[in-house]
Amino acid sequence: MNNHKKGFITRSLHARFPKGDAYNALHMPVYDGVAYEFDSAEDIAETFAGKKFAHAYSRTSNPTVEYFEQKMKAVTDADAVVALASGMAAISNVLLSLVESGGNIVASNQLFGHSYALLKQTLPALGIEVRFVNMTNLEAVQQATDDKTRAYFFETITNPQLEIVDLKQLSELAKANNVVVVCDSTITPPYVFNSKSFGVDVEVMSTTKFISGGAAAFGGVVLDNGTFDYSSLPALKQWSGKFGKDALVARIRKEIFRHLGGTMTAHTAHFMNLGLDIMPLRVDRCVDNCKQLAAFFEAHHGIVSYNYPGVAGNRGYDLAQTQFGGKPGAVMTFDLESKEACFQLYNRLKVMRRATNLNDNKTLIIHPESTIYAEFSDEEKKAMDIRPTMMRLSVGIEEVQDLIADFTQAL
Ligand SMILES: *Cc1c(COP(=O)(O)O)cnc(C)c1O
Repeated sequence: MNNHKKGFITRSLHARFPKGDAYNALHMPVYDGVAYEFDSAEDIAETFAGKKFAHAYSRTSNPTVEYFEQKMKAVTDADAVVALASGMAAISNVLLSLVESGGNIVASNQLFGHSYALLKQTLPALGIEVRFVNMTNLEAVQQATDDKTRAYFFETITNPQLEIVDLKQLSELAKANNVVVVCDSTITPPYVFNSKSFGVDVEVMSTTKFISGGAAAFGGVVLDNGTFDYSSLPALKQWSGKFGKDALVARIRKEIFRHLGGTMTAHTAHFMNLGLDIMPLRVDRCVDNCKQLAAFFEAHHGIVSYNYPGVAGNRGYDLAQTQFGGKPGAVMTFDLESKEACFQLYNRLKVMRRATNLNDNKTLIIHPESTIYAEFSDEEKKAMDIRPTMMRLSVGIEEVQDLIADFTQAL
């Protein structure tokens, strides 16, 4: 036996199909049908009774989607994986499966906008209380925690503030309080971040971003690292009796996801299967471009300040090194002298695209204060550190000289 552990791309490319293909296809085919036939009455009865696994109906499972789940498992240390229709489907399914009505979640006050809205509006209407805190302040997290707290929910790097939670410290606190650590690692996907080794119990991601191959299709994924004993949670006690450490994924598959219908389609899974294989190449290229843009911003007199945790001197640099191998995604921000200067620059850009969204292959740029945060009051914006002088960049895979030339002419 040799102990050589294969690299991410090799494991992704060569992940085996769950079942041999009828034509020996090298790419997993797109199984676009809805239902599957059984050989006998016994066969279909055993499947429905959960005694054996077979695909029956594509809303609950599908071969192309199953293969994407297998690939995600092959490139991570996750115990169980579920793919869903979008990042929001992944987040909502996990939280609805973990927390009972009457329980609460302690969540970061710096979240992707729709995650924030889910936690602020939708979950409280279902009897799930959410307490927003600064997740980098462990005392605040501890103070918000009580014996009804079931989950800590946050993002590995917040956007657009680019704050990084110290995961080892937070997961120790979670363990002491018997709370599930649920982390959204969309902007630091598995190639740069091993969630299990930092004490994360459940990882959720929007695969729409880096994994789909540059914002090609909507998708989401839930990875359960198998590290939490769910028998102590009211929402999962029964499930735990039957499914042990797979209780969360069992409840998602057999109840929440099945009943809410947030299914990933076979076509989407096809994009994800192709995108995952070459994600590391794209991430490396994006990170390299970010570092070169940082050097350009550093030297340019028109840039008041910039923020990218991948460069020395940044307040998040040390954590970016230890937690993300020095590759902290491809979102960066910079500040100009005024909002007017931001708008002027924005209107002059010729290569970079004026758009929301992250981790497209194209570089995207936006002025968060007047767009994503337009509905927030000035006080709320201030509390979230959303400055009118700040621009957000999602750096793509173009030749960086072309991005620098675009900035040079626009500044
Ligand atoms: C985009 C995004 C989501 C939501 O994902 P969708 O696929 O758009 O539903 C959640 N979290 C983060 C950090 C994101 O960037």
